[in-house]
Amino acid sequence: MADDSKYAVLFEPVRIGPVTARNRFYQVPHCCGLGHLRPRAHAAMRAMKAEGGWAVVSTEEAEIHPSSDLSPFPEQRIWDDQDIPALRLMTDAVHEKGALAAIELVHNGNHAANLLSRVPVLAPSDMSIDLTYPKQARAMDKTDIKAFRKWHRDAALRAKRAGFDVVYVYAGHRMTLAHHFLLSEYNDRTDEYGGSLENRARLTRELLEDTREAIGDDCAVALRLAVDEMMGPAGMQSSVEGREVVEMLADIPDLWDVNVSNWSNDSATTRFQPEDGYQTDYISFVKTLTSKPVVAVGRLGSPDLMVSLVKNGIVDFIGAARPSISDPFLPNKIRDGRVEGIRECIGCNICVSCDSLGIPIRCTQNPTMGEEWRRNWHPEKIESKGQEHDALVVGAGPAGLECAMQLAKRGYEVTLAEAGDELGGRVTRESSLPGLGAWKRVADHRTYDLAQRGNVQVFLNSRLDASHIGELGIRNVFIATGSTWRRDGIGRTSRAPVQIDDTASVFTPDDIMQGRLPPAGRVVIYDDDQAYLAGVIAEQLAVLGRKVSFVTPASIVSPWTVATLEQTRIQTSLLEKGVSILPHKQLKRIAAGACDITCTFTGQHETLACDAIVLVTERLRVSRLFDELREAGPDCLELATLELIGDAAAPGLIADAVYSGHMAARNFEKDKAEIESAIFRREITALSGI
Ligand code: ADP
Ligand code: SF4
Repeated sequence: MADDSKYAVLFEPVRIGPVTARNRFYQVPHCCGLGHLRPRAHAAMRAMKAEGGWAVVSTEEAEIHPSSDLSPFPEQRIWDDQDIPALRLMTDAVHEKGALAAIELVHNGNHAANLLSRVPVLAPSDMSIDLTYPKQARAMDKTDIKAFRKWHRDAALRAKRAGFDVVYVYAGHRMTLAHHFLLSEYNDRTDEYGGSLENRARLTRELLEDTREAIGDDCAVALRLAVDEMMGPAGMQSSVEGREVVEMLADIPDLWDVNVSNWSNDSATTRFQPEDGYQTDYISFVKTLTSKPVVAVGRLGSPDLMVSLVKNGIVDFIGAARPSISDPFLPNKIRDGRVEGIRECIGCNICVSCDSLGIPIRCTQNPTMGEEWRRNWHPEKIESKGQEHDALVVGAGPAGLECAMQLAKRGYEVTLAEAGDELGGRVTRESSLPGLGAWKRVADHRTYDLAQRGNVQVFLNSRLDASHIGELGIRNVFIATGSTWRRDGIGRTSRAPVQIDDTASVFTPDDIMQGRLPPAGRVVIYDDDQAYLAGVIAEQLAVLGRKVSFVTPASIVSPWTVATLEQTRIQTSLLEKGVSILPHKQLKRIAAGACDITCTFTGQHETLACDAIVLVTERLRVSRLFDELREAGPDCLELATLELIGDAAAPGLIADAVYSGHMAARNFEKDKAEIESAIFRREITALSGI
């Protein structure tokens, strides 16, 4: 890259205490569901970021002691020396690719239930634990505080031995002891660790000093602080106590990693925070109070925004969790002038949902995320084509687009046929709904990529049937024909159809997304899908002035979105828009002007007046074309490959459809037995030495 490039400032080295980062791209700590249970997968995932150009690559939170035990969620763990070799895998792999390795030491206080270790839970004051488990944390006495400081110091020494360059003290997300001591809401102590802000900050100051004294000659000491809780005067505010904490500790850490809390504010989705860089207003004061480098986040995926943040003296490092997940090669793409090729994060929080579920990370935009070790997938590299020459992909939703793009990258002549008049399938449809506009990036990235290639032909308005496929004469066919929403009410709760009178006015999400809306009046949204779409449609119709009742067998609106950290916002937003919410209700019958619903517990009936109803229940796979081709028999059409992918194979998230398309393209021309025998590499605990 030429020095006069407008992005050159992003590639300047920056000193952090005793170590130097090669540029300004900083992968801040983020959870990944790999952690201490899957150390090889973890090391390979972090190393991929280093290969992609990130200068600092961090772990997720690393529990320092059995009294901070997040089981069954697999975070990182540094309880004793036995944990060092697993962490070493990561530091070695990251160093090999030229980046610094950072570890986020944590004691989770009352956020850890200690379900594995079964030791008492600790907190600044007596209080319930932060999980649905009937257990309380006990207020730490001076002996506990002394012990905690020693655990933290010992963990820092181990971190150094494990090869880390940057070691964190973590006071953020309302998830850590250091943060709990800082917040008056958690801390009602009357000793020198409670009361005034100076007293509440004492523990964080001590942890920083202990860490520096233990390892500060060789490792940088970072402080991750949530400067604002976004609760107004009810919580810490960046204009009041957040600022005072930074003033107090200004030059004690070697690096300030600042954000907002809680996690749902820090990792806000585009549905509720559409603007990239949404944390800037809260953190911009920090650099005015310290001489030490500052890193911040807020979906910083745009190179121009990055440059302006650095040039305006707001940050020294561009922090990223999600943009580094959706595109581990983001720094290198900027460096090499390939900005258009960046897979932009869509802010959907599917990555976050994996932490909520305790499973390995996945990403809607980047299907290789979490698969670096177990499947040996690289986000930028794919095996070249084999003997076959060409491939036909039918359907240009997320599955078809991803499959076509990867096949084209492999070097096949690719034909992509789409029945509709635009590309994107459900992504294009769903992104027309309120708050989901950024999801369009899934289609945009792939459409752009396909347009750059000389070996791809795209046909719109081309609904193919078996005879067309015979005429085309392409031997390898991937069917990505998607799914449609059911119109009979069968869903999660009932395998029997709802009784629907002929005169009833019934709509499905497909109608809504195609602009066929219920007329003005009372509309019932019946959500037995219990994911996200019903909540979005309710919002849309309420904004358009319909009188909306949200009926669901679930106990809350859109329960799936607890995992994406959106549920509270969704239900709040619907209530604020006047939507009436009827939980624990099952739909039995729809007539003209009314529907019958029953209580899911007692079966008690009630009648609800409504002029129209939107059924959001389940999807039907569109697999007729595949079935016809299969029935005709591959030999009849001389097909070498016939594969059903995406929602047509198994309706799921957009992330699942992309993954399915990616998998099909990777596996094409692989030996079937090889695919079946090695599903993926598993990390199984070695039993030697027992
Ligand atoms: P997925 O999530 O699996 O990619 P989508 O429902 O998003 O599925 O996309 C499927 C796409 O396939 C839609 O855009 C639809 O128009 C297209 N399609 C369905 N049947 C045919 C067909 N027979 N020929 C061409 N395109 C089709
Ligand atoms: Fe972004 Fe969604 Fe990928 Fe997470 S899963 S990194 S939010 S695109």
